[in-house]
Amino acid sequence: MQESVVTRFAPSPTGLLHIGGARTALFNYLFSRHYQGKFLLRIENTDLKRSTKEATNAIYEGLNWLGLTWDDEPVSQVSRKGRHLEVAELLISNDMAYKCFCTPEELKIMREKSISAGGFGGYNGKCRNVDASKHPPNLSPSIRLKTNNEGKTSIKDLIQGNVEVSNKEIDDMVLVRSDGTPTYMLAVAVDDHDMKITHVIRGDDHLTNTFRHIQIYQALGWKVPYFAHIPLIHGSDGKKLSKRHGALGIHNYKEDGILPQALNNYLLRLGWSHKNHEIINLKEAINWFELKNVGKSPSRFDMDKLNHLNAHYISSSKNDKLLELITPILNDFLGFNIPIEVKKKVLLAMDNLKVRAKTLNELAEDASIYAYNVPIRIEEKALTVLDQSTINMLNLTRNLLDRITDWTSEELEAAITSVVNENKVGFKEVAQPIRIAITGSLKSPSIHEVLANLGRDTSLERIDDFLRRYKTS
Ligand code: GLU
Repeated sequence: MQESVVTRFAPSPTGLLHIGGARTALFNYLFSRHYQGKFLLRIENTDLKRSTKEATNAIYEGLNWLGLTWDDEPVSQVSRKGRHLEVAELLISNDMAYKCFCTPEELKIMREKSISAGGFGGYNGKCRNVDASKHPPNLSPSIRLKTNNEGKTSIKDLIQGNVEVSNKEIDDMVLVRSDGTPTYMLAVAVDDHDMKITHVIRGDDHLTNTFRHIQIYQALGWKVPYFAHIPLIHGSDGKKLSKRHGALGIHNYKEDGILPQALNNYLLRLGWSHKNHEIINLKEAINWFELKNVGKSPSRFDMDKLNHLNAHYISSSKNDKLLELITPILNDFLGFNIPIEVKKKVLLAMDNLKVRAKTLNELAEDASIYAYNVPIRIEEKALTVLDQSTINMLNLTRNLLDRITDWTSEELEAAITSVVNENKVGFKEVAQPIRIAITGSLKSPSIHEVLANLGRDTSLERIDDFLRRYKTS
């Protein structure tokens, strides 16, 4: 690639940063980093009624969380209004744009007529050639582009291939509304030009806008950038992704305990591939990312796959990092700040815990067994498997455990195995009552590991407390 690559992510802060937007940002980021170019951020906040500070912050936070760092200061589109209007005036003075005084009623009738005659409802050019001397005084006009109505506009799209449209399908679009505000069409073309964007990578729902942007570029004699339109993300049912399919906002995934590495990896693979690699970190993605490997058809969002990748990234994360990540979740969940002794136990248990969890929330929940104080809350389901004989078995095991001097996982396993052998019962019959007594649930990592990590005093304290409470049940 000759020139230095400049890409941009241009979200409208009218809603939260969602996964479609995050994937667009990721592809722009990777493409620019791959070519050692620049990745810019532009906040398209011209819709003042719908744009919010919260949504703008959610965009910054979401991108930062994903590690998609941008270059330079973010551009606020609304602050560039003066420049957009200046370009509109330039187009008028070059006879490439004109003032339109049609009223909304006239435009409505025009649209209806066009549609009933089989057209697409576009503007019919009524004011295109009206001399300025005939312009009505005291009326605020809109400004329209003198669109080239002949021939075709084509895009050599880096993902979609060659796409073209007959210029008859493109009407004289509004560049500036009669209230003096620039339209999205004008603002995007001017900003992309001024920001020296070389590659516009965005969702393919913008493909029809691109034909119009190209006309603006051409009217100004500006170099048209490369375009790459990414197919949209669909839900698991093949329909356009919507709230119905579950969480959409990036913050939802964060709250659900998804790691940013997993989400990046998942979004990357959603529509892009490199050989048959599934697990790809950001560094590898930068090395390998090429637009030609982006698929042309929509991809389907699959939560199970995301969870699967998340489980991978959790199990390969460092234990102390995981402890740091789950501490606030645990504190929240428990309603108190876990003390240092609990943190130490969780850290000891982390090797076992991290291979079982699909999300950080699950990891925190599993780790919470190290944080409880007696009495341990026993789940309903766990209580149903208890009867007098299991309580007796727990009593027996407890006495054996009490005699262990070297409280290690190996010794504990040996002790439990000896109870199994001596009493000719299944392993579960011995392990399950201990599990219930010390965790309150029917599921946990290997019970001897849990006992070892909990330590002798806490383990026996929990068993004794349990036996006191359920002795006669
Ligand atoms: N602001 C537009 C959006 O959020 C994107 C415009 C663009 O990428 O050109 O859909």
